[in-house]
Amino acid sequence: MNLLQQQRQHVLMQIEQACQHVQRDPKSVQLLAVSKTHPSQSLRELYLAGQRSFGENYLQEALGKIEELQDLEIEWHFIGHVQRNKTKHLAEKFDWVHGVDRLIIAERLSNQRLDGQQALNICLQVNIDGQDSKDGCEPNEVAELVEQISRLPNLRLRGLMVIPAPDNVAAFADAKTLFDQVKSLHAQQQDWDTLSMGMSADLDAAIAAGSTMVRVGTALFGKRDYSA
Ligand SMILES: *Cc1c(COP(=O)(O)O)cnc(C)c1O
Repeated sequence: MNLLQQQRQHVLMQIEQACQHVQRDPKSVQLLAVSKTHPSQSLRELYLAGQRSFGENYLQEALGKIEELQDLEIEWHFIGHVQRNKTKHLAEKFDWVHGVDRLIIAERLSNQRLDGQQALNICLQVNIDGQDSKDGCEPNEVAELVEQISRLPNLRLRGLMVIPAPDNVAAFADAKTLFDQVKSLHAQQQDWDTLSMGMSADLDAAIAAGSTMVRVGTALFGKRDYSA
């Protein structure tokens, strides 16, 4: 095993321990490898160790990697800010988009998904702790957006995504409450199964609060170098 593969084992073990700690099934938490700024070769190494889902933030960078790694069966997640004029590439090239926070974005993604492609998986991003500079809809907008987005034909609305301020672990519990409220309102909606929260520094707290998908970059790949 090379270093990256060892780091992945380490993160998987951390997830398992965090689950055991709160009596959750480790299989109920998915590891999304956040690979922004890292070269395709690193993704390939993690893929060979069994990693299938990767998260990218920057569209141009991601499109290059998707091209270079097209021989692999990667599940591509877009976790960056979604700009209205970039939805076409997201709709065509990705399997998941986590940062949907307005109806217009969801409508464009649904319209631009190609015929013959499976429905695009979506998470609704919520500004769970009222940060000024943050993307995401307000918690009180969630119910209506869920109604509206659920009706769009080429999307599967899977759940919520949050990025609380560092150390604000209480926000994870708020996100879980909101997630469960929507679930009980839409009991028939089987697709509502994803609570995307927790990163390298706070994945234990996120798992304790009910995260089903942790987005981990630094703990897998090491520090990011943005200079390139
Ligand atoms: C970069 C990023 C991550 C990964 O953060 P690390 O602290 O490196 O694990 C997770 N989620 C989002 C939305 C990100 O932009």
